[in-house]
Amino acid sequence: MTAMPKVLPELTELRSGVRRLLAPNPSMMTGPGTNTYLFGKREIAVLDPGPLLEAHLEKIVSVAAAPVRWIIATHTHPDHSPGAARLASMTGAELLGMPAPDGDHQDRTFRPTRVLGDGDVLRTDEFELEAIHTPGHASNHLCILHRASNWVFTGDHVIDGSTVVINPPDGNMKAYLASLARVRDLQPAALLPGHGDRITDPARVIDWIIAHRLAREEKVLAAVCAAPGSTTTELVPAVYADVPQDLYPWAERSLLAHLIKLAEDGTILNQDKRWLAAIKSGMVT
Ligand SMILES: [Zn+2]
Repeated sequence: MTAMPKVLPELTELRSGVRRLLAPNPSMMTGPGTNTYLFGKREIAVLDPGPLLEAHLEKIVSVAAAPVRWIIATHTHPDHSPGAARLASMTGAELLGMPAPDGDHQDRTFRPTRVLGDGDVLRTDEFELEAIHTPGHASNHLCILHRASNWVFTGDHVIDGSTVVINPPDGNMKAYLASLARVRDLQPAALLPGHGDRITDPARVIDWIIAHRLAREEKVLAAVCAAPGSTTTELVPAVYADVPQDLYPWAERSLLAHLIKLAEDGTILNQDKRWLAAIKSGMVT
């Protein structure tokens, strides 16, 4: 569940008028760093300026080499949007996206001047970018469809070489799986993630993520049936035997996301912070 750091070039022209600039914030959670994408040549839209790193923001402006008119955030986690307000003050650009929801780990400095909803399109004479609302990793998460290429820019919805954290209550596993199916149904030609390299086989990768999550969900249900009345913490070792113990705090967040989904499906119940199967355990195979 951790990102695998791999080396990416700092600046890559992915196709004419679509560039990727890597922010210098590599870590276990961000892999090589956050990908900032630039669309256009004469007027620029910036997707995910990343954390508030002055040198990176200056680099965005110099790489753009044209007026930055729009700044879009896929979501308001600390590695994606905190540079946006500062970049807007440097360039006069409009801020597009969804406002930060309540809760921890949200960048409240990101206040969109234009709130994007599902299906909204930023149209210029150089490109069309369509917002696809993809809640799951974050309730305000947007993927961005670049219409000319049929590429989907996936932020943290799908990243390269790793699964993403679904951290309740803002993260929601049921919504996440539905949003994965949504992107798969777009039949994108490639996925351009917020971390890591271009994904050229979107259907295969999305199918693997869905299968991986459903396999984990089966383990969660089996663990609840084997030890009914367990707390979330007590279930971690049974479900995440394959994960190093120092990652258990993260595993517990994902486990809770699975438990909430199973409860939303009506398969299990929570009573006094303890989990029980909603059907007789003998019926679960
Ligand atoms: Zn995120």
